Amino acid sequence: MQVIRSPKVYDVVVVGSGAGGGITAKVLTEAGAEVCMLEAGPEWDQGRDGKMLGWPYDSPRRGASTERPFGEFDAAWGGWQLDGEPYTSAPGSQFDWFRARMLGGRTNHWGRISLRWGPDDFRRKSIDGVGDDWPFTYDDIKPYYDKLDEFVGIFGTNHAAETGLHNEPDGKFQPPPLPRAYELYFKQAADRLKVACVPARLSILTKPLNGRAACHYCAQCGRGCTTHSNFQSTTVLLPPAMKTGKLTIVTGAMAREVLSNDEGKATGVSYIDTATGEEKAVQGRIVVLAASACESARLLLNSKSARFPNGLANGSGAVGQNLTDSTGASLSGFIPKMVGMPNYNEDGTGGMHLYMPWWLNNVKDKLPFPRGYHIEPGGGRHMPGFGFMGGIDRHPGGSGGGYGKGLKEEYRRLWGATIGFAGRGEMVANKDTYMDIDPNVVDKWGIPVPRFHWKFGDSERLQARHMMETFKALIEEMGGTVLGKIPGAEQDYGLAAGGRIIHEAGVVRLGDDRKASALNKYCQAHEVKNLFVADAGPFVSQADKNLTWTIMALAWRTSEYIAEQRKALAI
Ligand SMILES: Cc1cc2nc3c(=O)[nH]c(=O)nc-3n(C[C@H](O)[C@H](O)[C@H](O)COP(=O)(O)OP(=O)(O)OC[C@H]3O[C@@H](n4cnc5c(N)ncnc54)[C@H](O)[C@@H]3O)c2cc1C
Ligand code: SF4
Repeated sequence: MQVIRSPKVYDVVVVGSGAGGGITAKVLTEAGAEVCMLEAGPEWDQGRDGKMLGWPYDSPRRGASTERPFGEFDAAWGGWQLDGEPYTSAPGSQFDWFRARMLGGRTNHWGRISLRWGPDDFRRKSIDGVGDDWPFTYDDIKPYYDKLDEFVGIFGTNHAAETGLHNEPDGKFQPPPLPRAYELYFKQAADRLKVACVPARLSILTKPLNGRAACHYCAQCGRGCTTHSNFQSTTVLLPPAMKTGKLTIVTGAMAREVLSNDEGKATGVSYIDTATGEEKAVQGRIVVLAASACESARLLLNSKSARFPNGLANGSGAVGQNLTDSTGASLSGFIPKMVGMPNYNEDGTGGMHLYMPWWLNNVKDKLPFPRGYHIEPGGGRHMPGFGFMGGIDRHPGGSGGGYGKGLKEEYRRLWGATIGFAGRGEMVANKDTYMDIDPNVVDKWGIPVPRFHWKFGDSERLQARHMMETFKALIEEMGGTVLGKIPGAEQDYGLAAGGRIIHEAGVVRLGDDRKASALNKYCQAHEVKNLFVADAGPFVSQADKNLTWTIMALAWRTSEYIAEQRKALAI
């Protein structure tokens, strides 16, 4: 195939425009670098494409999930399956790979749960002997969490002194929104059970910041935010980068491989122009991969040459290894005391106002599993979506359904009397869980696709069992009953399949040991000095916290390192 090469040589080529790519573009353009960003998906303009203020009756489908997993109004051009872009799982394995194909990636519709990791999360091996420590400490990354808090904006509270949870470090928070009624109710139950329950930490503004308005509590963050009050790469990171005049964004550019020369340096990226199917290439002095963890690993594994026969920067064989996702399990319950609540607006932000961080860190020796999880509760009387309260005829507090006025009254009476608890916990990497390239399958662009190998260990199953026990205790403490049957050992206690929690990480691991890692502690390839990774690929471990705030802190640190190295003419 003929490759069309752009003659211009950029200072930096960044692949991907989501959480990691957005930070990289902002920090490096502001440091004076000319950056070319390749993005596989089309442009996303929140004002034009977002549906923040849409009503269900605006659509003949009422917002049902026909093509997108989270409904028609959701700001996700993507999902676990994409037309023409398959992936495979090894026999006996299941891994579901979520991808968004759009400018800003998954940041347009993510949950905005922005949990700063704590000191223990970077040194778990030293604490429990399992997995590995990171080659730096919380103190090294703390300044970047602080910068994020201040620049992006996040609400929450500093509670470590009060709760004693030292692994939930203080941040620079805007005031949190008030809890809703059902949140106050489950907090009472949590307090009695001694489960910590504190204001959530979401990257949503409750006060104006940098020209962005405070949230007006429409509860529709999943549709993207037209007033720019929550965090999206497209509304928070790319605008300041564009303002420098140094960012060129090429959408519809599906990167195929990183190009390199005989000296072992990256020279640019080849990509498919998705509008024409032509193969093109852009040249850069530095290449940063931020295409999301598994996509960056795929790119490296597909970038083979005589010098790098196992894939670029993969002399160690670490690329593709150590794949993890968060553990996840959920349970819901019916709470009779919340039946027939007065009607009032309970929308709030598009997410929880209270949550439960991992509260048993200090008693870990008494638990049958290492690490822990936090709890994301959901419920309340916010605007219902398509299909809400399906199966009302079988509702334990109902009278068997009905028709017309009676049925409407039944919906009003029971709406908001259900509570859900979802656990998100830490999986430990194991040797049976990894990705490689399927030798027999290519996508519609002719690019070889990943093949996933997945196995949970007993630790993850026991963690899910503990989640179920805790959720049941919370529901019963609220005077409620569990809805459905609690999954037992034969169903892995409800443990979600790999990839379902959408926190994939670890496949381009960083570390001091060149034989066991692909990158050094600045996310710079050991073998290719001018190649960096700025997504969750470099992660040494997961935590009991969601990972995106750490992707962004790490990307900010990597970008500052690149800027310093450029200044010192060291790359
Ligand atoms: C519904 C949902 C809810 C979530 N909630 C939370 C949450 O509350 N808290 C949390 O911490 N995390 C959450 N996440 C996860 C979070 O969205 C991701 O961790 C984060 O977006 C990852 O950032 P990234 O830059 O690595 O990848 P992305 O944000 O996915 O961006 C990658 C970009 O690279 C582009 N790309 C991919 N391949 C190529 C290629 N070959 N060439 C060119 N471009 C390419 C993609 O199109 C995409 O735009 C959620 C995710 C989803 C889907
Ligand atoms: S809830 Fe707030 S942040 Fe979310 S979309 Fe509405 S206004 Fe924006």
